[in-house]
Amino acid sequence: MVFEQIHARGIRNERVLRAMEEIPRERFLPPEQAKNAFADAAVPIDAGQTLSQPYMVAAMTAQLDPQPHERVLEIGTGSGYQTAILARLAREVYTIERIASLQDAARILLRELGMENVKYRVGDGTQGWPEEAPFDAIMVTAGAPELPEPLIAQLAEGGRMVIPVGGSEEQTLTTVVRRAGRTIETPGMACRFVKLIGRQGWPDPAEE
Ligand code: SAM
Repeated sequence: MVFEQIHARGIRNERVLRAMEEIPRERFLPPEQAKNAFADAAVPIDAGQTLSQPYMVAAMTAQLDPQPHERVLEIGTGSGYQTAILARLAREVYTIERIASLQDAARILLRELGMENVKYRVGDGTQGWPEEAPFDAIMVTAGAPELPEPLIAQLAEGGRMVIPVGGSEEQTLTTVVRRAGRTIETPGMACRFVKLIGRQGWPDPAEE
C-alpha cells in the first residue's frame, strides 16, 4: 500500500522500490511502534530519534541512486533501516551514528538479516570517515545548519551527497555533486529532520 503511494508520488526508481519492499521495516521499530511501520509518517525510535517517513526514505535514496559497484557513507544510522536499503543497493556502506545504543541495535539486526557489507562507527559523522574516503555517495539523515566541509572533501570526483540543510525546524533536501574540484548544490523539497549534532553541525545540548 505504502509502496503504491510512493510510486504515485513520483518515485519510479525500480531498484529503490524493490529494496524497500524486501527490507522488513517493522523489524527496525520498537515493538510498540511496529503497528506504525507503514504509516505515511516518521516514527519514534529509541533515544528521542526517529525513523524517517517511507516516502522520504524513498525520495532520498532515489536521489542518491547508489549503484552496485559504489561505496556509500551514511551519517545517522538510527534504527538501521536506511542503512539496510543502502546495503541492498551498493557494494559497501559505512555508517556513523553518535548514539552508541542505537548503532549497537542496528548492527545486531542487520547481521540477523544477513547484511555483511556494512561497516559501523560511533562518533561525530560531521567529520566523515577520512580513512575510508573518498566515497561515491554520501547520505546524511539528520538536518545540518550548513554543508559540513569534511563531507564535501570526502566525496569522490563525480560523487554526490544528499543532505537536509537549513534551520532546526525545517530544512531543504539538498543534493551536492562534486565535479572537477567544484561542488554544485541543487536545492530540492522541504523536509523536517532531527538535528545533526556535531562539530560541523548543531551544538550538543548536553554540552550547552
Ligand atoms: N536513517 C535512520 C533510520 O533509518 O532509522 C534515521 C535517522 S534519524 C532521522 C537521525 C539520526 O542521526 C539519529 O539517530 C541521530 O542520533 C543521528 N545523528 C545526529 N547527529 C549525528 C552526527 N553528528 N553523527 C552521527 N549521527 C548523528
